[in-house]
Amino acid sequence: MSELLIYYNGDYVPKSEATTSVYDHGFLYGDGVFEGIRAYNGRVFKLREHVDRLYDSARAIALNIPLSKEEMEEAILETLRKNNLTDAYIRPIVSRGIGDLGLDPRKCPIPNVFIISQEWGAMYGDLYEVGLTGVTVSVRRNSCDALSPNIKSLNYLNNILAKIEANEKGGDEAIFFDQNGYLSEGSGDNIFIIKNGKVYTPPTINNLKGITRATAIELLADMGIETHVENLGMFDLYTADEIFVTGTAAEAAPLVKVDGRPIGDGKPGPITGKMVAAFEHITTTTGTPIFP
Ligand code: PMP
Repeated sequence: MSELLIYYNGDYVPKSEATTSVYDHGFLYGDGVFEGIRAYNGRVFKLREHVDRLYDSARAIALNIPLSKEEMEEAILETLRKNNLTDAYIRPIVSRGIGDLGLDPRKCPIPNVFIISQEWGAMYGDLYEVGLTGVTVSVRRNSCDALSPNIKSLNYLNNILAKIEANEKGGDEAIFFDQNGYLSEGSGDNIFIIKNGKVYTPPTINNLKGITRATAIELLADMGIETHVENLGMFDLYTADEIFVTGTAAEAAPLVKVDGRPIGDGKPGPITGKMVAAFEHITTTTGTPIFP
């Protein structure tokens, strides 16, 4: 099988050649930004929304992406075409570029732009049917006045620490609280709680402004279900009737246990089920065509 082609600063190079220097500040300091996007049935889901967030993340760290948004979209689509992919996970990455061992980003004149695309099926495999187990973690989500969780930066150490803790505790996904004890998000997804037929999700000051989160809110609204965006705590988590998480990689997944406690009756609930079905429908029927 031929190697996957990766977009690398305007060229499409085999995976083994898509390499940068150890002096790239993305590698040295996590100085850069990225996105995670999916394509279904030959269409890229919410392409403009992901590109907008990539550029917002870059702006937030004063990184100038050397492509217009239109050029970035075209590069993403062309990467998929070059690899003949119709169903894929896409990972655009913009690093600060090559500098010296100092922190100063002014020493990195040229950002490095990579776009990886590959097949990646259901992240949690068979667990969507039976539901995932969540565990709350002791590490707090980065506070918004230190490193805002709104920035999808190459520094995912906070999330990795949460994942390590979840792995140690035998959970499928970590659940973060913030410094104030408010519910934040999962290590790689946003969280929704359902109680007495009402849907709740935390405001995005302490989590990533998830594109799947926004889609879920829209889909629920289409079903006549309003999502209440408000601060939530551990009590709300433990007493929920249903919980689900949303993310591009994870898609929409029910959580049926948290810290060993069953959520509702310990099975994926009805509102979650409707949401997941609506999400599957919208992802497979809308989006930017890869092969126009
Ligand atoms: N939170 C975090 C920390 C994430 O990494 C992701 C995945 N990008 C999400 C939430 C979900 O965001 P989206 O739905 O835009 O993929």
